[in-house]
Amino acid sequence: MLNLDTLLLVQVCVALLTTGLLVASACYTESPPEQRWWAGGNVAVTLGMALSNVQTLPLLLTGVVGYGVIAFGLGLVLRGLRVYCAETLSWTSIAAITGVALAITGYYALVVPSLQARLGFSGFYFALLNWVCALAVARHGNWRVTSICVAGFTLLGLALFLRGVHMLLHADPGENASSLVIALSALIVPLAQICIAFGLILMVMWRYAERLRRLSTLDALTGAMNRAGLEIQGKRVGLRALRGGRSLTVIMIDVDCFKNINDTYGHPVGDEVLRHLAKLLKLELRPHDLLARFGGEEFVLVLDGVNLEAALSVAERLRARIEHERVELEKLSVRYTASMGVVCSDQHDYDLIRLISAGDAAMYQAKRAGRNRVVAG
Ligand code: GH3
Ligand code: MG
Ligand code: MG
Repeated sequence: MLNLDTLLLVQVCVALLTTGLLVASACYTESPPEQRWWAGGNVAVTLGMALSNVQTLPLLLTGVVGYGVIAFGLGLVLRGLRVYCAETLSWTSIAAITGVALAITGYYALVVPSLQARLGFSGFYFALLNWVCALAVARHGNWRVTSICVAGFTLLGLALFLRGVHMLLHADPGENASSLVIALSALIVPLAQICIAFGLILMVMWRYAERLRRLSTLDALTGAMNRAGLEIQGKRVGLRALRGGRSLTVIMIDVDCFKNINDTYGHPVGDEVLRHLAKLLKLELRPHDLLARFGGEEFVLVLDGVNLEAALSVAERLRARIEHERVELEKLSVRYTASMGVVCSDQHDYDLIRLISAGDAAMYQAKRAGRNRVVAG
């Protein structure tokens, strides 16, 4: 049923297609460096496989150099995977990976000639390299994105390992043609290659999507959420609080006389004050609280499960901290204060837009009352 020649033809076609796919995706000018390593690595692996299968070439090329080129390609792929995980793999390590393949195959091709041992041990070695690749991706975590790639490398390693075991156990090459293990590994290899190629592209796509999400929902100056982010996350948090029957509190925070800071020290110092405030607020919040920059020097906090009384004490604590903090810059130290308006769903409702405008009104009351204070809406 599993015709070996057909399976090998499929394997060659899939290797060419997946390599073409990775090369095409790496040609995009903005592509990250790991994509180029993956593409280069796949080209080398395909070349090495082609070289080791052309029987008319001298043994040194087919039986030794071909395997070295495959190992070199796997080294490049591994380097790409480590670059993706913000690490790297030195050229010395890639040379060592290549050298081991050359040593194994060179030994069994030229020193103690044995086709069986050469195919068996090189199979084990390539299986090991694929498992190292699987481990490199798995260490990154984020299973929803990396699992396809990890599965691909693991399967490919398994197919090569089984092929290696079979080669060592069966001396007669004629037996290979009819072996179920060889046919199964010839079936698994192209499937694993497809998993790897699509898995790698999925990993890069996820990175792009994540970058876009950050660009569109985070404020570039302070790293806090912007209004678009607040709209999306705020709805989610509001709904969660409503369903759970918990209070939802909004604290509006506006830096006092911020224009004076800009006018006195310059815009860059004003920017530094905004960064300082966002950092201070983030440090004081629980992980599920929301912080957004609502406008120029105005921030919003959305607290789930906090009633008005508790929120007023949170706001008072924040106000006091802001008052006592200093923004230390090269030659100056700047102090600032903030006014806050606090509103809670117990007094209003869970509609975030209404809570924000009520919070804004309370905050302006605080401004009118003399600034640097907290007012409940
Ligand atoms: P109040 O106490 O009433 O809030 O007075 P204020 O000066 O803080 O408020 P006002 O609305 O008069 O001025 C806000 C200033 O914030 C004006 C604007 O130039 C400045 N601003 C807005 N966005 C940024 C920014 O990203 N960086 C800097 N440095 N300044 C900004
Ligand atoms: Mg202000
Ligand atoms: Mg303002």
